[in-house]
Amino acid sequence: MITPAQTLTMAAAIIMSAATATLVWLSLALLARIAPRASLTMAGANACAALSLTLNATRGVLPDALTCWPADVLAVASFALLGAAVPAILTRHLPWKPAAIAVAMSGLAMLALPYGGDMRWQTRIVSGMAAVLVFVAGMAAWRHLSATAGRRTPASLALPLFLISLLMALRGVDSFIHPGTAPDVRAPTALNLGLLWLALVMTLLLNATLAFLVLMRLIHRIERLLERDPLTDTLNRRAFDQALEQAHAWFRRGRAYAVVMIDMDRFKQLNDTLGHAAGDAALHQMVRELQPCVREVDRFGRLGGEEFCVLLPDTGIAGAALVAERMRALVHATPLRWLEQDWPLSASFGIAEAERGDASANAVLARADAALYRAKAQGRNVVQA
Ligand code: GH3
Ligand code: MG
Ligand code: MG
Repeated sequence: MITPAQTLTMAAAIIMSAATATLVWLSLALLARIAPRASLTMAGANACAALSLTLNATRGVLPDALTCWPADVLAVASFALLGAAVPAILTRHLPWKPAAIAVAMSGLAMLALPYGGDMRWQTRIVSGMAAVLVFVAGMAAWRHLSATAGRRTPASLALPLFLISLLMALRGVDSFIHPGTAPDVRAPTALNLGLLWLALVMTLLLNATLAFLVLMRLIHRIERLLERDPLTDTLNRRAFDQALEQAHAWFRRGRAYAVVMIDMDRFKQLNDTLGHAAGDAALHQMVRELQPCVREVDRFGRLGGEEFCVLLPDTGIAGAALVAERMRALVHATPLRWLEQDWPLSASFGIAEAERGDASANAVLARADAALYRAKAQGRNVVQA
């Protein structure tokens, strides 16, 4: 025998969980300033859920004008905010317009419906909206996580969203199959108690999943900061050396690689004439120009100053020469535009491939460096192997 106290306690547990999650997301957003917009959105989603359920549970105690329509609108708002928070975490873009439209449309529709009887149409609107909103968020998460696979965030993290969407859709369909079963959260039935358990698990699971996504985003950002050069966003020396070591380990198992060493010509002169800021702009411009020349698998690093190096896996000296020549022509083709004035840019290139007998990648780098010196001696703006 299920008592009303049991279902009320379950409802209270869900309300407390959502309220706690609200506080945690608020602290993340306002105190730790981690993913602030997405975290605020999640705080809003949990607050709306807690409030909606509280109003639902106080039906008959508080006036109907407070508990019926507002509770339903808050429920839709909760799912709309959840749906907006997912892309906000993954892509930093917060799609608040569709969320606002969904809430406004269902609010208006339910305003036109009579509150009384079994309120089956309200159930259909809330469940239908929730199912669609969460499904769209699930699809966005699935697509994004599949595209960025391999970063310890598998696409299966989108599954809880699909599960919620399915449950909400089932609830809507059920209102057609069993019309007249009013969704009263206090109903002391085994079915209702089971649904409340499910809602509690889903609340915890969803918050944990989204918190995990925020954490992974944070880790990804820290990793990027650790391995990137702040001025040009290429790999820094340490990260590039690591990539080289890895390539050399693969070389021992039979996979070739080549390196292209790049040094800008007469860079000191540019700095001394136009200033350090112009030098920085020239470095930035060169990297931006050269980036499209490298493949996804190639690694572009800054060795220091105006010296860069590109690691080309599965490439021999002939391939590296082609890449370097294309790069040389590109750099030479676009001068630096500084204070209404053009300053000609060029760079010299030294290339080398890994050879049997190279004890480490340093030997390959040393050959590329020697080739680079020859390029400078030849008058610059050339490629040497
Ligand atoms: P060469 O054609 O022989 O390569 O001549 P160069 O002047 O380019 O060569 P050198 O290595 O003598 O000078 C490199 C200069 O690059 C020295 C330094 O002032 C400048 N430099 C190093 N790092 C930075 C940086 O981060 N920003 C700017 N603007 N300049 C830098
Ligand atoms: Mg130099
Ligand atoms: Mg130089």
